[in-house]
Amino acid sequence: MKTIIKYYRKYALAIISSLLFLTGEAICELQLPGYMSNLVTYGIGAADMGQIWHYGWQMIVIALIACVCAVMVGFFSSQIAAKVSRDLRNDIFKQVMNFANEEYNKFSVSSLITRSTNDITQIQNLTILFLRLIMFAPIMGIGGAIKAVQYSSGISSLAYVIVAAIAIVILLIIIALTVVQPKFIKMQKQIDNVNQIANDELSGMLVIRAFNTQSHEEKRFDNANKDLTSTSLFTSRMMAILMPIMTIVMNGVMLAIVWLVAYKVEDISQVANMMAFMQYALQVIMSFMMISMIFIILPRAIVSIKRVSEVLSMNISIKNAEGKEEPTGVRFKGDVRFENVSYGYGGGVNAVENITFEAKSGQVTALIGSTGSGKSTIVNLIPRLMDATQGKVTIDGVDVRDINLKDLRNNIGFVPQKNTLFSGTVASNIGYGLDEPTDEALDKSARIAQASEFINSSPDGMQREIAQGGSNVSGGQKQRLAIARALSKNSPIYVFDDSFSALDFKTDAKLRMALSEEMSDATVIIVAQRVGTIKNADSIVVLDDGKIVGIGKHEDLLKNCPTYLDIAKSQLSEEELGL
Ligand code: ADP
Ligand code: MG
Repeated sequence: MKTIIKYYRKYALAIISSLLFLTGEAICELQLPGYMSNLVTYGIGAADMGQIWHYGWQMIVIALIACVCAVMVGFFSSQIAAKVSRDLRNDIFKQVMNFANEEYNKFSVSSLITRSTNDITQIQNLTILFLRLIMFAPIMGIGGAIKAVQYSSGISSLAYVIVAAIAIVILLIIIALTVVQPKFIKMQKQIDNVNQIANDELSGMLVIRAFNTQSHEEKRFDNANKDLTSTSLFTSRMMAILMPIMTIVMNGVMLAIVWLVAYKVEDISQVANMMAFMQYALQVIMSFMMISMIFIILPRAIVSIKRVSEVLSMNISIKNAEGKEEPTGVRFKGDVRFENVSYGYGGGVNAVENITFEAKSGQVTALIGSTGSGKSTIVNLIPRLMDATQGKVTIDGVDVRDINLKDLRNNIGFVPQKNTLFSGTVASNIGYGLDEPTDEALDKSARIAQASEFINSSPDGMQREIAQGGSNVSGGQKQRLAIARALSKNSPIYVFDDSFSALDFKTDAKLRMALSEEMSDATVIIVAQRVGTIKNADSIVVLDDGKIVGIGKHEDLLKNCPTYLDIAKSQLSEEELGL
């Protein structure tokens, strides 16, 4: 709750203005029935044209002021609501951008999307309603009640009519709340669910087609959709029933008032008083209905507020150390060291354990091991995509946790195992990490990444369109673009997580050749599946089930690391092995 209230503080001035106008509107509204009563009594009753004009003009002016106030309130409240939602959306986005794996895993992507769209809309609606009604309803309710007494001409049974009407309204609201309330809470979860399934199915379209599971998926979506539909139908129906019942109550009140007063009318002033009383009575009942409106939408909005604050108040686990908030623009030499590093994804099991090795600048260090042996986990610790649970990772002897995140990541050209290209052009993707990409820089990194050939084969060259997620280039082309993107940063450390697996052997070899020529003084860390890719590395780290089982050069490992020998034997012929 606190996290959200903070967002309104910025607009305190607008909120106060809005409340002032609202008070003005309410006061004007409260005057009108009284003037009308005077108009009828002294003007129409006395057949005095002068009085009719006198009161008539006053009523017109008051009505106009009320109208202007109402417009101003609408103006301020919608502005405040829209701006608060904008700020919330911005901050959610910023917050999620800084999420580490750990935080990210707590929310599904679809839930994050619902939270930053639908949930914020709920908050926006509540804000508008709240600003519109918060002052208005009490002033109208209390003021209307006082005025009503003045015009009741001593008929005490009139008061009972109002009390009875209010009791009915409150009863209706309580019924509505107990029935509808739980459904509203359910609804946000169901929206999450529909989004989740739609997201799954749209991104997995090819698999669904290939496995012929369309009907299964349709059913899955249909079920989630039906759940959501039935909940929202139920809530809207309840709300729809409520409205006519409220109208009946209001009309019943008017009828009862006319009926009670009718027997006692002796002159026109009593008719005028009755009309004024009727309007004040309606104002009182209306104010109760308005307050009840807040109660109807408040619960749903509270759910949304909770969901939004959950994201905003999430503690970000990976952040700058104290005193390192500002990037200094350092450039490291690039010696990366792992000292006794362990990391677990939670659940008490370590994915990698006791990892100690060094990747020196000017050398190629390779990580090899079967899938699931922890290679990606290890390299992800270098740019702090997550933090080691034990031990430390250092660059040039400095713990990565003591380096400003921006500086750290600026020093690392990282090609993740799961590549993502962004919609745009080839150039915008390769120059992604640069502030001002130059043509030479782009061409050079494309050339080293062996991407020039296919880039130039397209008539658009560097300006060729890339679709969302890079879906319009092949796996190998995507990998090469991702490599070029990392290379364009010209950093002292390069990490390639399984980045050569989709390349054919020839390109793989050419790329490594170009790398060692052009990046001879950089620290290169290569995660690979193929022994051929890393055979010439200066140092090879062999992993098995999260532990290091051998470090050394290819020839040494063949002799004294059985795991490495197994991997090598399964891929190379006896001659290639040189055994
Ligand atoms: P590799 O890259 O060598 O194939 P990973 O480092 O990706 O292996 O995975 C090492 C282990 O950690 C595996 O057992 C895997 O199941 C587990 N793991 C990887 N990522 C996650 C994650 N986000 N959450 C939980 N466990 C994970
Ligand atoms: Mg991996």
